[in-house]
Amino acid sequence: MDKFIKFSELKCPKCDYKKLIEMPTNYCQWFYECTACKELLKPLDGDCCVFCSYGSVPCPPIQINGSCISCK
Ligand SMILES: [Zn+2]
Repeated sequence: MDKFIKFSELKCPKCDYKKLIEMPTNYCQWFYECTACKELLKPLDGDCCVFCSYGSVPCPPIQINGSCISCK
């Protein structure tokens, strides 16, 4: 179960604030509110979650399966 990275450094595209966040492994996180500027982040087109769009590491399903089935 621990063959993936759990923490992703999420970078806000608006204010560049970075925060290390533990990713949920049983679902995909669609929304994230930046703790610095309160911008509500949503995934970019083609990405399944905010971690794939803005994180330093893709979400666990991508790391394990190479794709994300759970969130389509
Ligand atoms: Zn921000």
